Amino acid sequence: MLRYAKPYRLQLVSAALLLILTTLVELIPPYLTKVIIDDVLQTKDMGPTLMLLIVGLGVTMLVMTAMQTVRGYIGMWVGSKLMRDIRKEIFGSLMRLSLAYFDRRQTSQFISRVNQDAEEMRQFMTDGVVFVCGHTLRIAAIFIIMCGLDWKLSLFALLPVPIIVAFSMTIWPRIGRLMYQQWRAIFRVNILVGESLQGIRVVKAFGREQEEMTRYEEANADVMKKNIKTEGLWQIIHPLFSLIAGFGTLLIWYNGGSKVLQGEMQLGVLLALVAYLGMLFGPLQWVSQMINWVGTAMTAAHRVFEIMDTPSEVPDMEEPLPLGVVKGGVAFEGVTYGYEKHHPVLKGIHLQVKAGEMIGLVGHSGAGKSTFINLLCRFYDTDEGIIRIDGVPIRSISQSDLRKQIGVVLQETFLFDGTIADNIAYSKPDATPEEIMRAAKIANAHDFIVRLADGYDTRVGERGHKLSGGEKQRVAIARAIIHDPRILILDEATASVDTETERQIQEAIARLVQGRTTFAIAHRLSTLRNADRLVVLDRGKIVEVGTHEELLVQENGIYRKLVDAQKELAQMKGVEG
Ligand code: ADP
Repeated sequence: MLRYAKPYRLQLVSAALLLILTTLVELIPPYLTKVIIDDVLQTKDMGPTLMLLIVGLGVTMLVMTAMQTVRGYIGMWVGSKLMRDIRKEIFGSLMRLSLAYFDRRQTSQFISRVNQDAEEMRQFMTDGVVFVCGHTLRIAAIFIIMCGLDWKLSLFALLPVPIIVAFSMTIWPRIGRLMYQQWRAIFRVNILVGESLQGIRVVKAFGREQEEMTRYEEANADVMKKNIKTEGLWQIIHPLFSLIAGFGTLLIWYNGGSKVLQGEMQLGVLLALVAYLGMLFGPLQWVSQMINWVGTAMTAAHRVFEIMDTPSEVPDMEEPLPLGVVKGGVAFEGVTYGYEKHHPVLKGIHLQVKAGEMIGLVGHSGAGKSTFINLLCRFYDTDEGIIRIDGVPIRSISQSDLRKQIGVVLQETFLFDGTIADNIAYSKPDATPEEIMRAAKIANAHDFIVRLADGYDTRVGERGHKLSGGEKQRVAIARAIIHDPRILILDEATASVDTETERQIQEAIARLVQGRTTFAIAHRLSTLRNADRLVVLDRGKIVEVGTHEELLVQENGIYRKLVDAQKELAQMKGVEG
């Protein structure tokens, strides 16, 4: 954590120095009060001395306030910068991690890590560290001054201190456990909210709002219970500490009072001791609370560093090979892969694809088509075998170079909240308006875009909800055209649209695939007729390869069966219609 503080060490050191000074200055007023009582009031020596002392008190207060303000400002300034740095790094780490990492986790949990945990780390570093140092110093200084005033009485008054310390030490493990439980409960609620909102369409579609509410209420009630337990303990401990500390004051009043009455001690000294004692117990309580704070910060830091320290599962090589001009030949050589080890979903895949060839991937759902694509994009690394592009293993190329060569048009098109032009130019932010328009025209998107109120400047809304499925797909095709990859991946790009839109999309795709090596997954087999070769996958293995016509004549072939099944389905629909 200190690494983050390093760039701001100058500011942090000055804040610490200011804190030390403030602490020392704070100790002056009780002493001045003592002087006023003993040397002025008791001796009835009015006149200039009193005035001088009061001015002294005033100045002390002014200096204290000024220093506190400056220190507070520095703390805020450093804190804001630290927050930015930590967040930036967490987000950077998230972007660097492989898809496999996110497959196994709830993505909503990361939102709280980026925000909340970063805040807790900041709080600890700016306020926490400064306060610990400051208060330790303060305790030491007060102790010395008190002993200087009257050491016997001081030691007597400090009798409750060991009790407080012992008490803190025994209660702490319990509080630590409670705090962890509290955090877990909050974590569960966060996940629940994230999940319900991500699946809000399903929730609404099935009318499950009430059930989601119940689920939330349970988790929410759990947070409340844990909160009451943890915070409740604090609410009891805190006054208890004050009470125990209060006994110290009683001891001083009793002993010191007797001494004053017997004339063995001056009144001012007694009052100063009482004041200092009050100042001493403040930070002492604080130290126990500090333990609480350290605990929270440490768990936050633990969660944050867990992300940062996770190595990417698809690391780039130390010195990746330059890719140069790519023609687009792709080779799978004995590729085996499983999302879980020992459970391969692709087994011994051999496939040579010439540059510019269009391959249709066919097979039952779950056969491994998407996995094939994921491996080619290197979202995951193969367990066995090699994938090459133009003869170069994709593991030895940097991922940014690789992805520059690969364009993807997915079934679920994701548009970012921005204008249509921004979304088309996503892979090439410096694209000119002419380039964007040209791409949109090729993608058959230009016509519908110019009909929109703001044309290319229309904001698509979060996840592109303002566009229809067919429109989104054409924007995605335009995006791929601008990207201009040598290798293209089409994942069921024509799902759920009307015939006219489908025709337009097909036309756009036909233009897009020209001159590019293409891998297309489509449920409607008719859309794959243009493919040079069809590759049929079954349970992770390639079982048939050939053109549509070649495969169709294979009696008992999987492709033939799939085509027959779809024909039947189409006929049934026809009858229904
Ligand atoms: P297809 O695209 O042909 O429908 P997939 O490649 O998506 O098939 O899936 C192949 C197999 O891998 C399936 O059994 C599926 O359950 C499994 N699978 C797919 N994605 C994941 C994942 N992220 N984690 C674990 N298993 C997965």
